[in-house]
Amino acid sequence: MKKIFKNVPSIIDANEEHIRETIHHDESAISFYRNSIHKKDNAIIAMARDHIQKFIMLISVSENGIIGKFSGEQIGDDGVYAKKCPLNANNAEVLRELFPWTAPVSLRNRKTTIGCGDRLGLASPGHIAAVKEYDVTPVLAQQSMRELTLTGRTYRNVVDDAAFLVYQCGYKDGYGADGDHLKKISDIDVALSAGMPMITLDLSEVMLAAAGDWSDSEIETAFNSLPQDVISRIKKTYFDKTFDIGALTIKIDVPTAKRCAVMYVKAMDFAAEVHEHLKEKRGKEFDLEISIDETTSPTLPEHHLFIVKELLYRKVVFTSLAPRFIGEFQKGIDYIGNLNEFSKQFAVHAEIAKACGNYKVSIHSGSDKFMVFPTIGKMTDMRLHLKTAGTSWLEAVRVIAEKDPVLYRVMHTCALNHLDEVIKLYHITSDMSKIPAIDSLYDEDLPKLMEMNEARQLLHITYGPILRDPAIRPLFFAALHAHEKYYYEKLKYHFEKHLSLLGAIKK
Ligand SMILES: [Zn+2]
Repeated sequence: MKKIFKNVPSIIDANEEHIRETIHHDESAISFYRNSIHKKDNAIIAMARDHIQKFIMLISVSENGIIGKFSGEQIGDDGVYAKKCPLNANNAEVLRELFPWTAPVSLRNRKTTIGCGDRLGLASPGHIAAVKEYDVTPVLAQQSMRELTLTGRTYRNVVDDAAFLVYQCGYKDGYGADGDHLKKISDIDVALSAGMPMITLDLSEVMLAAAGDWSDSEIETAFNSLPQDVISRIKKTYFDKTFDIGALTIKIDVPTAKRCAVMYVKAMDFAAEVHEHLKEKRGKEFDLEISIDETTSPTLPEHHLFIVKELLYRKVVFTSLAPRFIGEFQKGIDYIGNLNEFSKQFAVHAEIAKACGNYKVSIHSGSDKFMVFPTIGKMTDMRLHLKTAGTSWLEAVRVIAEKDPVLYRVMHTCALNHLDEVIKLYHITSDMSKIPAIDSLYDEDLPKLMEMNEARQLLHITYGPILRDPAIRPLFFAALHAHEKYYYEKLKYHFEKHLSLLGAIKK
């Protein structure tokens, strides 16, 4: 540190590039992230790390001004003021104020977006390294309530972590933040007040999915009990009507119209209420994603069309919509199902999205679906949102399996011990008994587990218990800190594989 301090008076007036060259590869125990080194007024503000942790480092020749805004520990001497600032909520706030590009923004005008859920608050630099080579914008902060509960984080933590990592990378192209799978206005408010511009509205509890299996007479009864004005509007708009959807025509017959009304009208009213709420809170600076994917049966094209027409009727502005697709989109593994049937049905979903408002088709549990990516990219002309989350956690597990086999074995055992309690929360079909006993494997075989669907799913869903285990947590984060660059490399490779198979355009 001495060397940096000695240099400061001579370089503080130089341009940022010169400062970067001078201090980023300091020989001391503290190293600076090159692209994070910025000058503001009379201070240098940079992300730095030592062998234990990351922090913000401020260096100035004056103790007044910006340096006073950050909270932290003064460490300078020799007429140089330096401050080592922890990555806390106050300092994230100051960072967003000084460098507005560290705050998330609405991505409603970005054609291709990718959700990069990061349960650890460590992965964004790997995501950024991948997306910045393509015509794609990342949603770097993205968590569901379930993930927050299982990881013990808050929306504020998630947004702050992303801000620090964006600063670390000096990434100025804009990114999103998604309050994922929210069902209640009170939860939406928590995400909004943490500064998240994107809300994924999960309609699974307000829509009447069960009515998808009701008999025609049950539907008849339920339809007739809807308010009279709704009944006559549905009749007029949909009964035996044919709609031109791009190159396709979709007909909605009378029973389908009635069934859709019973299933969705109430949910559409709720979506309109949420939309009004978002407008009130953020003007036009929001992205509303409509999610109908958390159901047991695939979204039929007629239903997709009905939902979209009802949203447009209510003047709901939405950025993306997530139908439930045919086949299985299970966590952390490739698509399971008939590829021809998928293509046939996906083509219709993509046409509806193009013809009725040009919103993005959103693919949930979108990671690792390599078999269907080319179809998805092509049929949407890349107007899409691909949502991923656990796959970045799995890449972290892969790093541990490669670099710290002893720790990996402890994590693997923890995962097996807690499998029963978390498996209920997810829809996965892996036969976990196929996973070889961990004691029977050599260290060099451990990373191969990350290529095995059963082991991937085991570790994908047990992140909560693993991260909460006091014997594992500190070791896990210490190992990832030690292998930070390697983790980014793994993530970059993995996400580039996603983007290139989708057919994203390289910059
Ligand atoms: Zn979903």
